[in-house]
Amino acid sequence: MAYIVLPRKYRPQNFDEVVGQTHVTQTLKNAVQTGKIYHAYLFSGPRGIGKTSTARILAKCLNCEKGMTPNPCGKCTMCREITEGTSIDILEIDAASHTQVDKARDLIEKVKFTSGSARYKMYIIDEVHMLSDASFNALLKTIEEPPPNVVFVLATTAPHHVPQTILSRCQWFVFKRISTKDIMTHLRKLSNLEGIQISESSLYAIARYAEGSLRDAEVSLDQIVSFSGNEVKDEDVNALLGIIRADFFRNFFEGLFKADVPSVIGLINEIINSGYEIEDFIKGLQEYIRNLIVLKDGISEVTETNLSLVDMPEEDVKELKAKSNLFSEEELVWMLDVVYQTQRDLRQFGMRGQERLILELMAIRLAKRGFRISGKPGATEKKQQSPEIVQTQKIQGPPVLKDVLGTARRVVETRTPSQLREKEPYSVPAHTKELDIGQIL
Ligand SMILES: [Zn+2]
Repeated sequence: MAYIVLPRKYRPQNFDEVVGQTHVTQTLKNAVQTGKIYHAYLFSGPRGIGKTSTARILAKCLNCEKGMTPNPCGKCTMCREITEGTSIDILEIDAASHTQVDKARDLIEKVKFTSGSARYKMYIIDEVHMLSDASFNALLKTIEEPPPNVVFVLATTAPHHVPQTILSRCQWFVFKRISTKDIMTHLRKLSNLEGIQISESSLYAIARYAEGSLRDAEVSLDQIVSFSGNEVKDEDVNALLGIIRADFFRNFFEGLFKADVPSVIGLINEIINSGYEIEDFIKGLQEYIRNLIVLKDGISEVTETNLSLVDMPEEDVKELKAKSNLFSEEELVWMLDVVYQTQRDLRQFGMRGQERLILELMAIRLAKRGFRISGKPGATEKKQQSPEIVQTQKIQGPPVLKDVLGTARRVVETRTPSQLREKEPYSVPAHTKELDIGQIL
C-alpha cells in the first residue's frame, strides 16, 4: 500500500477534528444548522492551520446526501468525492500558482452559467490576495450579485492585500496560530495511532519548531520517523530540526548563576562547533530570560497566568519558575539588555568572523554580571567590606556567587525611591557600560 503522508492521512474530516479553531468551527456549525449561509467567506491566518480543510468540511456540511448538517456523514458519494478532491462542484483554485491566473478569472466569470448535482457549489480560492486585478474585478462582480447556491471561500495569509471592496462583502474568520499545547496533544494522539514511540520533550520540540502550524508539525514528525523509524530518539529530533537542546539553556544559566566562566565559555564553543545558527541561540537566550522575568511574580505555585504566558509544558514551567528565583529582576532585565546588545554587535561585526569572541564576551559579562570587567577592581573590593554584603554571606552557594549577588543586591537596595525614579528602571552599574564591543574589535 502506498505510504500516505501524515498531514494528508490525518486531515480533519469534520469540524470537531479541526484543532484549535473552535471560534470558527462553532460559528460555522451554527450557520449550517440555521441555514444562514453567506455567499462569501474569508478565512485568514498563517499557513498550515486548517483554512482549506475547514472549507472542505463546510462543503460537506452543505452537500451531504443526508441533508444539510453540521456533522456530515463522510460516507455518501458527495462526502467521499469532496474528501478525495474529485467533486466537480467543489473547485479549488490556487491563486499563488502562475499557471492558474487565467484559469481563475475564467472560472469566476463562468460561475453563474454552471450547474452541477451539488446543493451548493463551492469555490475555494487559496491565497486569494495573489489574484490578478482582472480576476479581482471578476470576483467582485460575482459576489456583488451572487448566483444562488454558490459559496466562495477565500483563504489568505495576507488579508491586508485583499481589496476592501471584496473584504466588505465577506464574512471574515480569523484563524489562530495553534498553541504548542494543542499541537503536542495532536502529535501525541497521532503517534499513538501510528505506533510511534516518542518522548514528551521531543513532541514539545517539534511543536515549538512548527510555530503554530499544525501541518508543519506533522511534516516534521513524518520526516523524523522516516529517518529514525518508529522509535524516535531525542538526539535525532534535535539534529534533524537543528534545534538547540532544551537542557543547553538550563546548563548555560546554571553556569551563569555560579559565575562559572569556563563552563559557559565551553557551552558557547559547543554551540559554534556544532554548527547551530547563532541567531537561533541568541533568540533562545532572549526567550529564556523573558520567561524567567515573566515567571518571577513572587508566587511559589505555578499559576494559570504563568501557563498562559509561557508556552511550555507545566513540568518545564515549574522548573523554570524555581530557576527564576536565582536571579533578581534587575539582573534579568540587565541580562536581556546585554543579549540584545550582543545581537546588534553580531549583526554589525559578525561578518568579520568575530562571532566567537562576541559570544564569549557576552557569556563573561553575563556570568560576572558585568561587575568584574569594570577596570576598577579596587572600587569593587572596597565595597565588599560593607555591612550589607556581610549579611548576604548567609545565602547558601559558592563564595563567588555571594559576591556577585551580594554586590547586585547592594546596588539595588542602597538607592532611595526618588533615586530610582530619576535613573533607568533597572540597576546597571555605570562601569558596565564602559565595555563597548564595537570599540574592542
Ligand atoms: Zn455525506
